[in-house]
Amino acid sequence: MKTQLGSTLLFLALSISSMAQTKFKPEDTEFYSPKPPIITLKNQMPSDAIVLFDGTNLEQWVSRNEPRQPAAWTVANGILTVKPKTGDIQTKQVFEDFQLHVEWKSPETIKGKGQGRGNSGIFLQGLYEVQILDNDNNPTYVNGQAGSIYKQRPPLVEVRAAEDKWHRYDIVYKAPRFNKDGMVISKGSVTVLHNGVLIQNNTQIEGTTEYIGLPKMQAHGAGPVILQDHGDLVNFRNIWIRPL
Ligand code: MG
Repeated sequence: MKTQLGSTLLFLALSISSMAQTKFKPEDTEFYSPKPPIITLKNQMPSDAIVLFDGTNLEQWVSRNEPRQPAAWTVANGILTVKPKTGDIQTKQVFEDFQLHVEWKSPETIKGKGQGRGNSGIFLQGLYEVQILDNDNNPTYVNGQAGSIYKQRPPLVEVRAAEDKWHRYDIVYKAPRFNKDGMVISKGSVTVLHNGVLIQNNTQIEGTTEYIGLPKMQAHGAGPVILQDHGDLVNFRNIWIRPL
């Protein structure tokens, strides 16, 4: 009896919904504003992007060391290279959600192994690392290889460099949200394309990047993009960001 009543109700609901459907005209479900802003591309960079590094200078960056000093990494021939022992560099501007494009290349000379070879990284809001590493014939823990969310999530696949040895990361980041008491409302998440191939698919970020121990969740606001000095001569070019 119960089942019969349920199916009768479902039939009634479907009938009402199909009657309602027949009253719609196509234009009833179309809208014309607000219009999406128009973006053009210049050297494959969106016109609304903030240029963080265009090959000429480090105006958008400072050293992470206190007190803040100008970023001391090397800029030559349109390429930014880590200057070991000068420390991480970070953007002057801070960001919440964003789309970030970074191109990187491992050092020409192969030196070291595992985490000691071609290591750098991109810290989202200064806290969550998308790993950069020379993965070629270089075994290490998979949640520490290039494209991993360091010590949390390995990439879905391991992508090799293009012929020119450059790698491209396109990162879409959603920052965690906290209430006024500092409690987590929603964790952060990240999607990463590596040379156009999906390697992190809306991956939940469990907390801060920790070399030892578990990630921590700590309330924070907007933060910089940080590039890591891990002592290796990793190269960068074409860095831009679109706050979302
Ligand atoms: Mg690193």
